[in-house]
Amino acid sequence: MPELSSRRRFLKKAAIATGGAVLGSVGLNQISPRLWPELLEFEPNQSYWAKSQPPQNPPLTQDIAVDVAVLGGGFTGLSAAYYIRSISPHKRVVVLEAKGCGNGASGRNGAMVLTMTEDRYMNFSSSPAIDRKIYELTAENIRTLSKLSAATGIDCELETNGALQVLNTSDDVKAAKAYVQQARSLGMPVEFWDKQQLISAIGSNVYEGAFFDPSGGQVHPMKLVHVFKAAAENAGAEIYENTAVAGIEEGREHLLHTSSGHTIKAKSLVLATNAFTSRLGFFRNSIVPVREYVAVTQPLSERQLAEIGWSKRVSFNDTRTEVFYLGLTQDNRIHIGGGSPSYSFNNGVGDTSSAASHFSQLQHELARIYPSLSGVQFEAGWDGIVDWSLDEAPSVGRTGKNKNIFYGLGYSGHGVNLTSVFGRIIADLEAGREEPWQRYPFLNASLDYIPNEPFRWVAVQAGMAWYRLTGA
Ligand SMILES: Cc1cc2nc3c(=O)[nH]c(=O)nc-3n(C[C@H](O)[C@H](O)[C@H](O)COP(=O)(O)OP(=O)(O)OC[C@H]3O[C@@H](n4cnc5c(N)ncnc54)[C@H](O)[C@@H]3O)c2cc1C
Repeated sequence: MPELSSRRRFLKKAAIATGGAVLGSVGLNQISPRLWPELLEFEPNQSYWAKSQPPQNPPLTQDIAVDVAVLGGGFTGLSAAYYIRSISPHKRVVVLEAKGCGNGASGRNGAMVLTMTEDRYMNFSSSPAIDRKIYELTAENIRTLSKLSAATGIDCELETNGALQVLNTSDDVKAAKAYVQQARSLGMPVEFWDKQQLISAIGSNVYEGAFFDPSGGQVHPMKLVHVFKAAAENAGAEIYENTAVAGIEEGREHLLHTSSGHTIKAKSLVLATNAFTSRLGFFRNSIVPVREYVAVTQPLSERQLAEIGWSKRVSFNDTRTEVFYLGLTQDNRIHIGGGSPSYSFNNGVGDTSSAASHFSQLQHELARIYPSLSGVQFEAGWDGIVDWSLDEAPSVGRTGKNKNIFYGLGYSGHGVNLTSVFGRIIADLEAGREEPWQRYPFLNASLDYIPNEPFRWVAVQAGMAWYRLTGA
């Protein structure tokens, strides 16, 4: 079956584009230690969504001993804490968040709620039956998000009108048709939309057709953070914010050190630190933190809405390697994200020097899709760090010398929904219930090797330059 060109193969292609550098560096890395220590730095969340950040809890101010310490207050950490307490209400579970909950990708993303995982989205693996199971699992999780929102009484503006992947070329159309045919034969309710059907849904005529997944949707990301924070606290988890963990002494019982000098003894540890995980010494050669950009307009007027013709409130992303994704907020602002990502040397997160050019790229793309919006100003623009794995494949599982460290990461820009699937799996693994998940490819999946600096920087920059040049 032809494969869709999309961001899914972004890093892999980058690696291939610079194959010599990457392969050579694997050998060099064996003899070259990490030369540059990574900084434990967290920049503030400047996103439009951050205006809805839930009130922050106080930081940890004493030494404590707990059953489970969850590091990271994003979707993965908060959902893991919720599920662990739901399974084991007798366990003391704490979430330690360096800034406020939702300061990371969970409170900054493109709001698309998607089924599947990044490496399987519109791509069958060698095991289509498992792919179908992943579809069902992730579609069911979206229904769970809705139930949790109702149970906590927090409206996270979840709309399950489906999600579109819009197609840029006739080859994309061919690939999407073939995918949809096979998926439907397996019982997946996905659809192929031709150009006219797509135009009547989103108004724009710049695409050749679309893949439609009726199970997908969109959400207000920070309000979803709020849902999970409330669910975790209602289940009895304690959440400490502005509490960064600066060091981990692994053991049968771990000893964590916060940057403010407190210690936490924990029998189990959950690493829900996403793109920041390598800073704690874990998954150093598995993840590249890549910066992506998102912007939002002011609410569109009735006239502007009628002009663009986005009649069905369905969000969409395209099939390019440097993907663009768009959605409509409930008060009819358009948010658009994607375009050229950036990578800072040594996994840095502090460099925002090129932000202006990224926002102008987003503006240009918005005007290309909806010419009547050319000249419309963004009300806010921000960035966020995506945890890319080489294959865009995620992994959830257990690690550590004593197998008492649990983790979920490698979402590669496809984690709004998948993170809480992994939160649930982490809770099962922590309770010793591994069997139900054994057939899923993401369980304990070993992530492909990514070299240390300076080879990492060279490979990623060269790959990005190649895609910018070819427009692929
Ligand atoms: C710009 C952007 C657009 C995206 N768009 C989409 C989209 O449209 N659809 C989609 O499905 N996915 C999207 N994603 C991906 C999705 O947002 C992520 O996969 C998901 O939010 C990851 O959640 P998480 O909880 O694992 O990580 P995060 O939300 O990043 O949470 C990790 C948390 O750990 C904390 N932390 C890190 N280190 C420490 C430490 N040492 N001590 C204490 N706390 C620590 C951080 O402060 C952070 O809050 C996007 C991501 C970005 C950045």
